[in-house]
Amino acid sequence: MNIILFGPPGAGKGTQAKHLVKKLNNFQISTGDILREEIKNNTEIGKKIIDVMNDGRFVNDDIVNQLLEKQVFDPQKKNKLIFDGYPRSINQAKNLDLLLDSSNQKIDLVFFLNVNKETIIKRIQKRKILEKRLDDEMDTILKRYETYMETTKPVLDFYSKNSNFHEIDGSNEIEQITNKIDSFINV
Ligand code: AMP
Repeated sequence: MNIILFGPPGAGKGTQAKHLVKKLNNFQISTGDILREEIKNNTEIGKKIIDVMNDGRFVNDDIVNQLLEKQVFDPQKKNKLIFDGYPRSINQAKNLDLLLDSSNQKIDLVFFLNVNKETIIKRIQKRKILEKRLDDEMDTILKRYETYMETTKPVLDFYSKNSNFHEIDGSNEIEQITNKIDSFINV
């Protein structure tokens, strides 16, 4: 089963992805984590993206798509993908479709974790203390939220007409959200 977790920064995509990884024995494909790993390992890609990421801007599509392609074509992960933080633009959604098509896969479920701006700001401020992410500073949070509204939210139109799309109130407690997600998964 391939699943997309969609929503603004701080919606709880990562938390729910980890739950689904355990439940389904799948793999979390967090482009944010993959990119942070490149920075941590000081790779050529890491050096290129560090400023962009810390500033809360999108990393160039060519870089993200290239890293994502590796995951989608990994035979071990076939039909076991939990996308967290990808796609983030219409272009990326189209790219994902192409990659899935050419690897004989499809998206089975899309969950949109909908959360308002105030809740996001509160959550990310908490996360900043726990995870010490440089892009969790207030002005960067606001910039990431703006980018989400402008570039990422339109991706909803791409998925919302399909019967496998489910909007979930992401401002609820973690367990409530998990239960709601589980109710759409028949395993
Ligand atoms: P996240 O961990 O999903 O909140 O992502 C953290 C940061 O990584 C974002 O603010 C972007 O700078 C970068 N990033 C993650 N996923 C993508 C993506 N799909 N496209 C472009 N940039 C991304």
